[in-house]
Order: sequence, then C-alpha cells, then structure tokens
Amino acid sequence: MSSLAFTVLFISFLLISLVVRFWLASRHIRHILANRATVPAQFAGQISLEAHQKAADYSIAKTKFALFIVLLNAAVLIGFTLMGGLQWLANASFSVFGDGWRYQLALVLAFALISGLIELPFDYFRQFVLEARFGFNRMSPALFFADLFKSTVLSLALGLSLVWITLILMEKSGDLWWLYAWIVWCSFQMLMLVLVPLFIAPMFNKFKPLEDENLRTRIENLMQRIGFASSGLFVMDGSRRSAHGNAYFSGFGAAKRIVFFDTLLERLAPHEIEAVLAHELGHFKLKHIVKRICVMFAASLALLALLGYLKTQTWFFTGLGVEPMMGASNDAMALILFALVLPVFSFLFSPLTSLSSRKHEFEADAFAAQHTSSQDLVSALVKLYEDNASTLTPDPLHSAFYDSHPPASVRINKLLST
Ligand SMILES: [Zn+2]
Repeated sequence: MSSLAFTVLFISFLLISLVVRFWLASRHIRHILANRATVPAQFAGQISLEAHQKAADYSIAKTKFALFIVLLNAAVLIGFTLMGGLQWLANASFSVFGDGWRYQLALVLAFALISGLIELPFDYFRQFVLEARFGFNRMSPALFFADLFKSTVLSLALGLSLVWITLILMEKSGDLWWLYAWIVWCSFQMLMLVLVPLFIAPMFNKFKPLEDENLRTRIENLMQRIGFASSGLFVMDGSRRSAHGNAYFSGFGAAKRIVFFDTLLERLAPHEIEAVLAHELGHFKLKHIVKRICVMFAASLALLALLGYLKTQTWFFTGLGVEPMMGASNDAMALILFALVLPVFSFLFSPLTSLSSRKHEFEADAFAAQHTSSQDLVSALVKLYEDNASTLTPDPLHSAFYDSHPPASVRINKLLST
C-alpha cells in the first residue's frame, strides 16, 4: 500500500466514525427529549416523573459530554500522527538517549504521560461537575488526586514492564515475536485476574466480609442451589466515590469472591439482592466469562499478528506522519501508532460486541428468573435504573450500537413474559 493511500483510508475511517457518532448521539438526544414529558406507561406508578426527567437530563448531559470527548480525542489523534507530534517526541527522546531501550521506553512514557495530562481536566470535570450536578459524586478532590497518584504508579509499574518485555521480544525473538508476545500478554491477563481482587482493588477500597446474617444465609442457599463455590462474600465501600450501585464477582478458581457495593445493599431488599446476584452468577454458570476471555485472547492474537506485519511496512509509519528512524529501532513507535489508530478502524464493529453482550444479559436474566424470582429481579432493576438515573427511553439504534445491556423496558418485558 502507498503511504498516501493509507493516510486517505485512515482519515476516511476517522471521518465516518465521527459522522456516525454524531448522528447516533443526536438521535438519542431527540428520542429522550420526545419522551421526557411522561413516564413510560410500563413504569408508571414505579418511577416518579421527577426521577424520569432527572434520568433524561443526566443521559443527555452525558451524551453531550461524550461527544465533546470524541472531538477532543480526534484532535489529539491527528496532533500526534499527521501533525507530527509523535515525530517530534521521537526526535526529542532520540537526541537525549540515542538508540536503544532507553529511547524506546522514554518515547512510550512521554506519549502515555502527555495523553494522561490531556485527559486529566476532563476526568476532573466529569466527576466534580457532571456527576456532582446530578448528585452522584461523593469524592473529595483529595481522594480524586490520591486515586490518580496510585493508579498512575500502578499502571507505570505494570504497563511499562509489559511494554518492555514486548519490546525485547520484538527486537530479539525473530519473525514470530508476536506469538511470544501474545503468550506473555495472556499470562499477564490471567495473573491480573488473581492480583486485582487480592492486592490492587484493596488499594482503592475497603472490603469487609458481609455481616448481615439473614442475607448471608439467603446467598449461601442460592449458591448451594446452583452449585457455586466462592471464597467469600464482601461489601465494598463504593459510597466513598459514587452513589451508583453495583455487584460483581472477581477472581477465579478458589479465589472467586463476590463483592457488593454498600450502595447496592442500602437500596435493595434481601430478596432483590438475591435476584441480582443470581443474574451475576448466571454469567458465570453459563460460561459467559470464559467465553469472553477466549474471544479476547483470540482477538489479541489476530491483532498482534497484524502488528507483526504492519511494523515491517514503511507505509504504516509514513502514512501516519512518522518517518521510521534509519538504522534505529522503530518498535516502540509501531506499538504507539497501533494503539492510537486501532480504535478508528474497530469502531464500526462495536455493534457486534454489544450484540453478543446483550445476548448474554438476556441469558443471565433468564437464569436468575429460573433460580430466584423474575418479579424480584424486575423490582431490583427498576430501582437500579432509577438510582443510576439511566434513561428508560434510549434511542433504539443508539442502544444497539453502544449498550452492553438491553434497554430496561426490553429486559423487563422479557422477564415478565417468561
Ligand atoms: Zn449482566
């Protein structure tokens, strides 16, 4: 491929994705506004007009903010690539370190820090303006910066080690480097499944064993009924950061643990919590988690093989505004370019991921209905939608494109009809 052809392809995909995103967002906003005046009949009596309108306003505010971030990201992307930002960074770190791993790591580090700094004010805005305006923020600025510090140190330590190993493999292990890198990457992911619940999550939140006897017995009975062994039930202080509620389980093998946000326990009755948990356990029992991991591993193998090819093609660099260094290593640059432009080309496939995710949600709902009560799950879902101010009237096309979960009305109708 010629360099110009690749530039044209890149710009076209970027423009198409921007047009599609704006079109979907404007449909979504129009659809929510058109349904703002009255609570949908299905939810009348369960959700007040005030809550319905809060959800509408919150969803619109989030959609507008997301569009702004999309534009910003597109500008940053063009700045790094075609406008020469990465070329400048590469020249600067090359002149300091010369060729070698120091130059390559410095380039990755500089790129990561600059991207992080650009995002920072917007993350701050999201938490302290957008979320706060709707009463969801419970963070102090001190906690926000403490989190930022911890997550930066963690991602530098873990991320840079992984990048370093990858760079060594790219340089020294021959044409099949991407296969070895894939093995390292998969092992890293599996290791994180154990490290996150045991060491990383406790750096950010407190986890206490679930004390409520009544609820414990209920949950233990449920786990016994469906044959799920877990090494513990925990309550997490999610209320330190946000009023949004959730439940999840993490780890695998004997390290599986179930975690409830305290905000969820406060809000739902024990039989509703049981139904929500049955849904989550459904994901496990129906092998959704294993399937998701397998798909992720297969996709990453294909992508690494693609990168193995691209890094040997001059047009991949020059088409994105970077001159490959003569007689020096271009591996770090190839990694950065790949990470930057992949989302542009993969965006149009996102409805496929959403589709498979929504299929899993229906299956987990059916599982919960079978092992607990569909009525309990419905009343829990209504409360969760209300508390999270999720709109009950999303634009169907917007939802099909982006949402990992089916719209509330569709989920509830399906639950009530079985
Ligand atoms: Zn689910």
